Amino acid sequence: MMEKEFDCQQCGHKIIARPPDDIHTIFSIQKSDETCIEIRYECDDCQIGNIRYWCKPSPRFVVSRSFNELN
Ligand SMILES: [Zn+2]
Repeated sequence: MMEKEFDCQQCGHKIIARPPDDIHTIFSIQKSDETCIEIRYECDDCQIGNIRYWCKPSPRFVVSRSFNELN
């Protein structure tokens, strides 16, 4: 499974993030839409909560795929 590494926003300690499922695979610091899953990663060093988001790949891909299926 893919992993993303990021630095704690307070102390810079490395935190490993893993996607919650096979659908939400885009790791982001910002929520891009309502389908994003918010996960709080607690730092091992300073115990602060780092909020990150796992989002679905580009909605455009989904839209064009369903368009093709309809035709
Ligand atoms: Zn920290």
